[in-house]
Amino acid sequence: MLPLSGRRNSQWDRSPSSARTPLRHGRAHSHLRMGARCSRAQHPIFALQSQRASDAHLPAADAWRSTEPDSRMRLRTACCKCFRFQSTSAICDFIFLSLIWCFWTAMLPVVVVHGGAGHIPKERAELATIGVKEAARTGYVILEKGGSAMDAVVEAVAVMENNPRFNAGRGSVLNVKGEVEMDAMVMDGRNLASGAVSAVRRIANPVYLARLVMEKTKHLCLTAEGASKFARSMGVPEVLEESLITDYAKMRWKKNLEPDANPVECQMGKMGTVGAVAVDKDGNIACATSTGGMINKMEGRVGDTPCVGCGGYADNNIGAVSPTGHGEAIMKVTLSRLILFHMEQGKTAEEASDLALTYMKERVDGLGGVVVVDPKGTWTARFSSLQMVWAAAQQGELHYGVYRDENVVEPVQENI
Ligand code: ASP
Repeated sequence: MLPLSGRRNSQWDRSPSSARTPLRHGRAHSHLRMGARCSRAQHPIFALQSQRASDAHLPAADAWRSTEPDSRMRLRTACCKCFRFQSTSAICDFIFLSLIWCFWTAMLPVVVVHGGAGHIPKERAELATIGVKEAARTGYVILEKGGSAMDAVVEAVAVMENNPRFNAGRGSVLNVKGEVEMDAMVMDGRNLASGAVSAVRRIANPVYLARLVMEKTKHLCLTAEGASKFARSMGVPEVLEESLITDYAKMRWKKNLEPDANPVECQMGKMGTVGAVAVDKDGNIACATSTGGMINKMEGRVGDTPCVGCGGYADNNIGAVSPTGHGEAIMKVTLSRLILFHMEQGKTAEEASDLALTYMKERVDGLGGVVVVDPKGTWTARFSSLQMVWAAAQQGELHYGVYRDENVVEPVQENI
């Protein structure tokens, strides 16, 4: 069993919309009152000015000189009223904007990670949960220190690539020949820049290489031997293929060579692809995904992960998605972009995810899961598979789960 020590919370699409409504009302109300008091004709300073200056056809400064002491006092009082009103108005605006800013940024930063969708054996679910919690914590610490969403998702994914419990980097599933070929992608929501590698071999952290493709080339994706050459030119060390292969991966590979094996079904019995989405303190959004692909895949098979809009998407204006599941199905429905499309149409992250996952199941018989954020920091983790191991860190809290409707909450600090 999982160590379910934290608080459970069934409503885990953390939408701030309900809290926003009273603020809006407050603003509308005070605005009306300010508007009434702010009428230029009725305002004491303008009234007095017009009485003294316009009657005498003098500008306000001359009116000041021409007034009797008691009139001056009245003018000063009017001025004070005026400035007090103006400063009150400025303070109101300042407080209102500060509240909006505080409210908006209170949900930031946030990072959500997944460690794959599928049917995860109980004994492995516990270790995978520890792995995603560590990844979410890593991303969150970066974000809390003011790091970028891109840094957070890349480092969170690298933590999972280094963990042999996941199907990415070390621990990747094997292709039909018993070899490791990996896919990875990153996307930057600020400018829609993206980088990916596909069918890459002997690289410990394909997510770093994907980021280098984004930052150092004018291309979006490099594949196979070309990706390896690029890695060498960037000084990324090659590792021995054996160092990426675990006993568990070998065992599953052998099992899937049996004539009656169904690799797609068996995919559901391993730790999945890894991914992360994040919004940083500046409101920038990013995603990263990395995978060894589908178990016993054909040599050279490229899945959804390195394809923009399928294996991930990030746009500061809408949000970010990192998916996991049957890659061919994800590609047919362009799952990540489909979810963001629904969000553009006004759906919440959770509604959009459920709509798109249901569509993928009904239309192409594909199962999977996603982690999603929007620019306000609303996040969700949804899946149509039996399980998906995920974790999220926001406002000092760490959320995590594996099974449907599971959301365990504990302080992030406990884990630092
Ligand atoms: N989506 C990955 C792929 O098809 C596999 C997974 O998520 O488990 O390559």
